[in-house]
Amino acid sequence: MTENHYDVIIIGTGAGGGTLAHALADAGKKILLLERGDYLPRELDNWDPKPVFVDGKYISKDTWFDKDGKPFQPQVHYFVGGATKLYGAALYRLRPQDFGQLIHVDGISPAWPLSYEDFEPWYSKAEQLYQVHGNGGEDPTEGYRSEPYPWPAVSNEPRLQQIYEDMSKAGYHPFHAPCGILLNEADRADSTCIRCATCDGYPCLVHAKSDAEVIAVRPILGKPNVTMLRNSEVTKLETDSSGRTVTGVVVSRNGNREVYQGDIVAVCAGAANSAKLLLNSANDRHPNGLANGSDQVGRNYMFHNSRTVAALSEEENPTRFQKTLGLNDFYLDTQDYQYPMGNIQMVGKSNAEAMRGEEPHLTWFAPEWSLDEVAKHSVDWWLSTEDLPIPDNRVTTDRDGNVHLTYSHTNLAELDHLYGEFEKLLNHIGMAKHHVLHKNYYCHMDIPLGGCAHQAGTCRFGTDPATSVLDTDCKAHEVDNLYVVDTSFFPSIGAVNPGLTAIANALRVGDHILGRMT
Ligand SMILES: Cc1cc2nc3c(=O)[nH]c(=O)nc-3n(C[C@H](O)[C@H](O)[C@H](O)COP(=O)(O)OP(=O)(O)OC[C@H]3O[C@@H](n4cnc5c(N)ncnc54)[C@H](O)[C@@H]3O)c2cc1C
Ligand code: SF4
Repeated sequence: MTENHYDVIIIGTGAGGGTLAHALADAGKKILLLERGDYLPRELDNWDPKPVFVDGKYISKDTWFDKDGKPFQPQVHYFVGGATKLYGAALYRLRPQDFGQLIHVDGISPAWPLSYEDFEPWYSKAEQLYQVHGNGGEDPTEGYRSEPYPWPAVSNEPRLQQIYEDMSKAGYHPFHAPCGILLNEADRADSTCIRCATCDGYPCLVHAKSDAEVIAVRPILGKPNVTMLRNSEVTKLETDSSGRTVTGVVVSRNGNREVYQGDIVAVCAGAANSAKLLLNSANDRHPNGLANGSDQVGRNYMFHNSRTVAALSEEENPTRFQKTLGLNDFYLDTQDYQYPMGNIQMVGKSNAEAMRGEEPHLTWFAPEWSLDEVAKHSVDWWLSTEDLPIPDNRVTTDRDGNVHLTYSHTNLAELDHLYGEFEKLLNHIGMAKHHVLHKNYYCHMDIPLGGCAHQAGTCRFGTDPATSVLDTDCKAHEVDNLYVVDTSFFPSIGAVNPGLTAIANALRVGDHILGRMT
């Protein structure tokens, strides 16, 4: 056995890879974590909207290409902890119905090969590990839970509490959103999280966000059986002559080419980059890309139909941590609309600086108000509808190995219906347009292709090797020691944030790998 040989090699340290490493570390197996990024620097810029939102300081310099070959900068984050370093930490379970087949306006969201009941124990473990705050039972669409949330829900600040009460009075069923932040409201002096206004989309300067670095990776780094190499990009996976076993993990590190061997290799590079790595690892036995005999690698890319809305009201909104409220009354079909619509939740509190960078059109949206005033009065929402796994929505790579992303929207009519219901809701809670200085003061923005925060689905799991890349343990059908453990495995994406499902699945697959290795 050589120095470069490990029991398990994990490629990527985000929600999938970081959590998988955590699940395996205690068993004493020799683990190598390969992460293309470095630690995200801890600096005051972490909490400054200009570097974060205007300059995009923590967004990778990658260039991807759309279906017309037009370059764009994807919103991906190459750090220890992956996308979770910047995430909003809204840690939702999928609804039980998401695991079954759902009929949408533009087609079918397919059933998963496993049920909500199969995932439930792993969701519970994921919530415990990531210290999720929430109130079980408030959201009428949520599934059975075997364990309560480990922490009470994060409280609403006064303006949000007023909205919560107004919604309830109007007959809606708002709930406290599940949050992964290390906030101890009962003992603020002892709380790691200080409840600040720069959380969703920002890194946490004080390491108080339940991200994969803080929760999963750092706690295992002291163990003698765990090694992490940063700034180490995996460029190719090599196989033996049968094509059934990965024998070499090729890494570009400090300008050098290095090769590592693992009994088991887990690709956890994020949906687009995992597909990229498999496609770029084509060889004689796998001419269309590693594990791609089905031609499914890279296909069925999803990232949600998402719309942010800044709704202004006459009263000010001095909320700091705003991501405390959710509404799933339109998650499924209703009496008035036969298709599922999706989820409504809050986003981080807007501020003038970020608006200036991200949404410069807001200056004409409320011309007689300064952006500071707009931000002071705005309540900021996030509407999300399921997009469908369409084979032609796919990641491919070119001769130089670059990512090309072909994507056409589905279910936009559902997003429009959700927006219609949302406007009615605003009417009910005193935020009707005509109450807001007699002007249309809602501004909304749909998330473009580069906003790939919720990317998923490029290596879906299933029971049929002809239509899926992975089996139900997330092992490649065609390769005996290769796993893909990130959001790639999703056969459909539901309409809530994908992070907790990626985490729960990593714990599930970790348990399977441990069973296989003993
Ligand atoms: C701004 C933002 C807000 C979000 N908010 C939420 C939220 O509130 N709730 C929620 O549930 N989800 C949220 N998400 C999404 C969530 O973060 C992702 O779904 C989740 O992190 C995906 O996990 P992953 O393991 O698939 O990929 P990632 O977490 O992105 O991890 C992939 C890792 O692989 C590394 N990597 C890539 N290529 C290679 C390579 N070739 N070699 C070595 N390493 C490589 C990357 O550097 C990265 O560390 C948000 C995302 C963003 C960007
Ligand atoms: S709210 Fe808490 S977890 Fe979020 S950035 Fe601020 S201190 Fe960190």
